Amino acid sequence: MERYVDDAIVLSSLDYGEADRVVTLFTRGHGRVSAFANGARKSKRRFAGALEPTTFLKVQLVETRGDSARLDGADIQQSFHHLRDDLGHIARAMYCLELCRELTRDQEPHAVLFDALLDYLKRLDARQAGPTSLLKFELDALEQTGFMPRFSPCAICGGATGPQPRFDPEHGGVMCANCSMRQPGGVAVAPELVEALARLQGGARVPLPPEMRARARGLLNVFIAHHLGRKLKTVEFMEQVGTD
Ligand SMILES: [Zn+2]
Repeated sequence: MERYVDDAIVLSSLDYGEADRVVTLFTRGHGRVSAFANGARKSKRRFAGALEPTTFLKVQLVETRGDSARLDGADIQQSFHHLRDDLGHIARAMYCLELCRELTRDQEPHAVLFDALLDYLKRLDARQAGPTSLLKFELDALEQTGFMPRFSPCAICGGATGPQPRFDPEHGGVMCANCSMRQPGGVAVAPELVEALARLQGGARVPLPPEMRARARGLLNVFIAHHLGRKLKTVEFMEQVGTD
């Protein structure tokens, strides 16, 4: 049984039995880890406030059977409580947590994605992250986990996407008019949206206008649902809150 210390962000937390909790952590060195927090509900002092989703922790974990672990200790490094004052910010944070939980596997380290999530939560908490930052975070998360959608050039022939591109998650992203004639399916997408997403993916930090963001959000929702086989639960929460 290996014992280790790692940085971790709480992705989700569930009550278990009468006294315990099971937390899903995203750790910098060990990726996603499900950990048992024995007695977390009986002794309020032991993990006081540490097991809430989004909290950034220094954790002491002990490997147990299979892929799970036992949480022996958790010190709060940052709890991001400003973020919790705003429903829109909560929705965005929850969406990012679910995205990381669903795109990664247990014990598969993704240090770059961990740092991107931590940076995003810090900027959200400091009210420095606009809606375009969320799209950028998603594109980075997809790239880090091997699901990167292609916006330009054409995902099939590698040529220019042209004036009538179509978007089809089945083929990995945007196709030119020629390829989409041979590969029916997908949806028509405006060339300026394809260009904006390609620029964002390339690292440009230019805020997108709301109407374009909404269309980009729609495309990414379809892409992610296609690859995961289901829609993320927090998409509905974001829609209810009216945030993007
Ligand atoms: Zn093509």
